Amino acid sequence: MDDKIRMVDLNGQYMKIKDEIDAGIREVLDSSAFINGPATSQFRDALGKYLGGVHVITCANGTDALQIALMALGLSPGDEVIVPAFTYVSSAEVIALLGLTPVMVDVNPRTFDTTVDNIRKGLTSKTKAIIPVHLFGQSCDMEPIMDFAAEHSLYVIEDNAQSIGAEYIFSDGHRARTGTIGDIGCTSFFPSKNLGCYGDGGAIFCKDEELAARMAMIANHGQSAKYRHSVIGCNSRLDTIQAAILNVKLKHLDEYSAARRKAAAYYTSRLKEFDPAGEFFDTPAEMPGKSTHVWHQYTLKIHNGRRDALKRHLAETGIPSMIYYPLPLNEQEAFKGIARKGENLVHSKECADSVLSLPMHTELTEGIMDRIVDGVEDFFRKL
Ligand SMILES: *Cc1c(COP(=O)(O)O)cnc(C)c1O
Repeated sequence: MDDKIRMVDLNGQYMKIKDEIDAGIREVLDSSAFINGPATSQFRDALGKYLGGVHVITCANGTDALQIALMALGLSPGDEVIVPAFTYVSSAEVIALLGLTPVMVDVNPRTFDTTVDNIRKGLTSKTKAIIPVHLFGQSCDMEPIMDFAAEHSLYVIEDNAQSIGAEYIFSDGHRARTGTIGDIGCTSFFPSKNLGCYGDGGAIFCKDEELAARMAMIANHGQSAKYRHSVIGCNSRLDTIQAAILNVKLKHLDEYSAARRKAAAYYTSRLKEFDPAGEFFDTPAEMPGKSTHVWHQYTLKIHNGRRDALKRHLAETGIPSMIYYPLPLNEQEAFKGIARKGENLVHSKECADSVLSLPMHTELTEGIMDRIVDGVEDFFRKL
């Protein structure tokens, strides 16, 4: 291994489970069951069980998962769907693609989650659904969101692409995996996600059997029986090879979450030691008692407009960092004239201008993190 620092170390992770993964892939090759082979249904069952007993529909990617979820709800053009502005484009893109109106709302500036107070500001008589996004590995505060949705008869589709394995904790103490709380949950198996395959993949979770069957049908050309098409659907499948890989990786998911948690704790302890008062930056805020954190990203907020200069300084010394996300969706050209803003989205803008994510993956060592934190400290010491 070279000593290059990476945002994500997929190779290091693969080398540790290579034998299991290679055997799983070989089995698919030997059987030639490339589409809907046995590994696919095995994975659906295993994931459903892991999530606490839900129906799982696998599909081609996380964006398709969101699209299929929305298609299943029987919404009409002009109906509004509330979505945060500070998120990846997929969450809002699919709303517009289906001729629905995305209504963008603000996020909590410390925890980056979609809050009920912001959701309320986007509510109109046309609102039909909410897509809360569990950003960076932590759950939104789902209980008030579910109460609000019930009060206004809204569907809730959780975008769980970044938080698979996280648990939301209800006020009575019971816990549920993110993605299993709303009417529908969606996730992505993009390679760098917490549960990633070696290509594209996605899944939809749902407790309601009828709705699950409808989404499975939509993902398969709206086909109710062979060559009988009941509704307009799409063609969205998880390859058997990817399912075989995911069957192996799902068994390691909790261990991967623990590795990320350990890395995040180390980052925070070192960074807080350097900047205890949060003069230069804020370390990520957690929601203890409400959500566990699976650290899809370790995201700092850099104060005083110094984010870009810090990023450049790190790059010069071989330390990668990323800006997730540099532009709120309400300011993206694609959404001009399509999206409606819930209000002035000051926090989304402020997050986009100040966030910086440090390398986060399952293979981080204290040695690597020391080099990264030293780079951050070096920048602020030279100010
Ligand atoms: C990755 C991601 C998606 C989309 O997943 P793909 O598999 O890339 O289509 C959707 N929402 C969020 C928040 C994501 O991070």
